[in-house]
Amino acid sequence: MAAIHTLGELRQSGYRSRPVKQEIRDNLVRKLRDGEPLFPGIIGYDETVIPQLVNAVLSRHNFILLGLRGQAKSRILRGLTDLLDEQIPVVPTCEIHDDPLAPLCAACRAKIAIEGDDMPIAWLPREIRYVEKLATPDVTIADMVGDIDPIKAAQAGLNLSDEMTMHYGLLPRANRGIFAINELPDLAGKIQVGLFNILQEGDVQIKGYPIRLKLDVMLVFTANPEDYTARGKIITPLKDRIGSEIRTHYPSTRVNALAITKQEAWTDRAAGGGAPVQIPDYVREVIEEVAFQARGDRKIDKRSGVSQRLPITTLELVVSNAERRALTAGEPLVVPRVTDVYAALPSITGKFELEYEGELRGAEQVARDLIRSAVGNVFTGVFDGVDTRAVVEWFDLGGSLPLGDTTDADEVIAQTRNVQGLRELADRVGLPRGAAAPLVASAIDFVLEGLYAQKKISRSDDRGYAAAESAPRRPSRREEAAIDEEIRIPSGKKKYYN
Ligand SMILES: [Zn+2]
Repeated sequence: MAAIHTLGELRQSGYRSRPVKQEIRDNLVRKLRDGEPLFPGIIGYDETVIPQLVNAVLSRHNFILLGLRGQAKSRILRGLTDLLDEQIPVVPTCEIHDDPLAPLCAACRAKIAIEGDDMPIAWLPREIRYVEKLATPDVTIADMVGDIDPIKAAQAGLNLSDEMTMHYGLLPRANRGIFAINELPDLAGKIQVGLFNILQEGDVQIKGYPIRLKLDVMLVFTANPEDYTARGKIITPLKDRIGSEIRTHYPSTRVNALAITKQEAWTDRAAGGGAPVQIPDYVREVIEEVAFQARGDRKIDKRSGVSQRLPITTLELVVSNAERRALTAGEPLVVPRVTDVYAALPSITGKFELEYEGELRGAEQVARDLIRSAVGNVFTGVFDGVDTRAVVEWFDLGGSLPLGDTTDADEVIAQTRNVQGLRELADRVGLPRGAAAPLVASAIDFVLEGLYAQKKISRSDDRGYAAAESAPRRPSRREEAAIDEEIRIPSGKKKYYN
């Protein structure tokens, strides 16, 4: 194809242009037949979203993805680019990427009439054929479709309905490609009418003048299901022209969630001269569990959802907090601890909307509750049925450990050496023999945080870990009582301690 430079050569080659939805379908058919992976990098949708997407594309539908934020909707739409031909021939300099074999605009038709088979052609790579727009209420028909300047048209002696008078908007510029509109319900009704007209009739009215615009575009949309179903947010005729509605969802298992976060989070920092990072599984699981807990928490607004970006950015901050500690202490290995998750509050509090009850508690406290509850959950999974009484007794007999998230690994190990049974418990998370100090310190931290989450011991900023404050000493546990009353267990049921 790259050898073809003129219209004449293109004609001789027997090249046939196809409507964009047919082109996408043909390429999908080939991929399915060859067993090629579809939508690489999209995890956990193999049995739900992807089959529906494939069916929509095979049907040559325009479609809409309905889902809450952070469900990979935009990523899926961008992935459609892989289904376009690697390049297509275009009339050079044409703003709407006209097909040299079937030009739409008057300028291109005139150019071809003059230059004939000698007219040079250009090849357009597929990345340029994907156009995306976030709908907001202030988007105008001029942004979306285009505008005309009646005075300029009159001066040039052109008819107003001649498309040469037109300044093209985003949609015509997506001609022969994919046009994605995110958050469709936020688009004003009259713009939706314009889109509908283009889909249906191939024309649109601008400033009252009808303009013919027989575009070839695959239209794809995203919306929040709540907004989409609300009456009047999307005009019925447009809704009617969207062939498929496909629902997305959050990862249904912790395994899928872990895989997504692992793929997306920036944790390999050795390239920039940083120390190697080793993230224990229980730290990853706690972070993931925070998102699962948040999605089920009644203090958090369900309609806006809790994005998968929460665990992704949290993991990045957790690694950074561990990196900061390792750099300060001169440790050669960065190993995050459960305690570091509390240092990642800035990536958690902004990722959810609170219900009234949550507002009363405050975003930071809600986030702390979520972390503690997540730690309890993961700890129960790892230490189910394991006897932790020896460690708890050590604290009950008056022991305390003034540790914090900045305490270096050697110090953690030294301070906890005399706590009977603690090291044995730490070994249960699967520490290799002769494990490096930062790994051991992290495992010890997990045990202490787990016992704290189960309220078997207490923790405060000034004293560190100490015995749980029992019922008779109730007046002194005012701060503790403010933390939370319940710990969730994996079944989803709530279990009350104390
Ligand atoms: Zn053109």
